[in-house]
Amino acid sequence: MFNYAKQLECNQREPLPGQVQNSAGGFSFPVDDWTRLDRFLILGSEGGSYYATPRALTRENAAAVERCLTIDGVRVVNRIIEISDVGRAPKNDPALFALALAAKTGNPDTRAAALTALPKVARIGTHLFHFAEAVKALGGWGRGTKRAFADWYRKMPDGRLVLQAIKYQQRDGWSHRDLLRKSHPIPLSDRQRVIFQWITRGWEEVGDSPHPDEFLARIWAFERAKTCSRKELVRFITDYGLPHECVPNESKDDPDVWTAMLPQMGLTALVRNLGKMTSIELIAPMSRAAKLVCERLEDVDEIRKARLHPLQILVALRTYLQGHGGKGSLAWRPERRVSDALDAAFYLAFKAIEPTGKRYLLGIDVSGSMNSHLSGLPISAREGACAMAMITAATEAEHHFFGFSAKFVPLLISPRQRLDDVCDYTRPLPSNRTDCALPMLYAIQHKIPVDVFCVYTDSETWFGNVHPTQALRAYRQKMGIPAKLVVCGMISNGFTIADPNDAGQMDVVGFDTVTPSVISDFAR
Ligand code: CA
Repeated sequence: MFNYAKQLECNQREPLPGQVQNSAGGFSFPVDDWTRLDRFLILGSEGGSYYATPRALTRENAAAVERCLTIDGVRVVNRIIEISDVGRAPKNDPALFALALAAKTGNPDTRAAALTALPKVARIGTHLFHFAEAVKALGGWGRGTKRAFADWYRKMPDGRLVLQAIKYQQRDGWSHRDLLRKSHPIPLSDRQRVIFQWITRGWEEVGDSPHPDEFLARIWAFERAKTCSRKELVRFITDYGLPHECVPNESKDDPDVWTAMLPQMGLTALVRNLGKMTSIELIAPMSRAAKLVCERLEDVDEIRKARLHPLQILVALRTYLQGHGGKGSLAWRPERRVSDALDAAFYLAFKAIEPTGKRYLLGIDVSGSMNSHLSGLPISAREGACAMAMITAATEAEHHFFGFSAKFVPLLISPRQRLDDVCDYTRPLPSNRTDCALPMLYAIQHKIPVDVFCVYTDSETWFGNVHPTQALRAYRQKMGIPAKLVVCGMISNGFTIADPNDAGQMDVVGFDTVTPSVISDFAR
């Protein structure tokens, strides 16, 4: 019998209708610009890809953002707010850059929306400095921009404004003094006037007794902390909530100073200083500090509030277990309890999911191109892909891990393992060419019943004899199961193996904190 279907199959170096050539020379579907916007906002382009430098990838992404801005600029701004405000991305920089693009290149409505959104996206001083730098690069300061900066300062409650000023003094070549001088905000109150004056000119005299105003007293304590005794410093931290940025470096070896800071320290700062606190033996076997740190790390509300992102937690876990800092000067003996708490925090940082009872094949692309780094962080896309798959595996009893490059790569990992073990296991796997059809072909060959194929990949497929979407169609036909395909995009490029014309296939973005819940909704 003449097999008509067979004649329609083509290998991955020939395009199906609607496909475009990917960077690996094979053919994938193009993602639409809105998906690309999401990928950029969540994954950024800092790490580049295997095929593109960060610069080239940023240009491509910026072009996609600009196309979206032309179609519906206000929708772009709303999307930026949505992703940035909830903390769905590991870094806020892509959101700030996209907001600056909207503010500088959008139509009048878009510009106005972008500038109004400034306090929601630039929530802290560092963000504002990043935004200022992006605005400068994109053509500078108009009147509207100046007003938006002035409003950022004027509308911020006094307590928070003081905290911004003492915590984030400068970054990217910008300081609060520069921004206030450029934007000239007219103070709304006498107290605000004093704060602005202190930022731009400092105080002529710092007296011995605290300022009678509670907010201004914090500035007084900040100034005094620069030269006071160790004992006074501990008292200032406790009484005035001075953050760790205000503590002189020479006092950072003192466990008493950290004990005072610990209860009020932000979770992000806490995670960044775990090594330091362990090196001075504040975090030690059975110590009270260790207990407090672990309790805070496992507090889901606190994780949300701090917008602590799972990818940051994964980086912290890896750094902590390596027992020394990046520059090597600081060394510590990791406490198991802390690494366990970080491991637990990783799962808590994603939007919670309920088991669906469906059967999942978790297909992880471990090909060479997946060795590029995620968001400029020391985690590769393949390690990240395994960590993402662990979340679904931890919730869904019926799952099977499946590694692939040009051929099947057995993956002996389990949700009972700690994430760093999984990363360590994944790293040395051989790098190879890519065939994203393999998860489906393997399931056909071994008659594995699957409801959802989750494929974690950069979609740079080229090696196989059939396209992934054809393999999925064949799977449905042969097994009689209307299986779905979820493509979890791990790199912010323009490709996907998901066929946009098939409602049973979907694109999600790797390391978006809502991704696991979107996958289970789709599976249902
Ligand atoms: Ca590849």
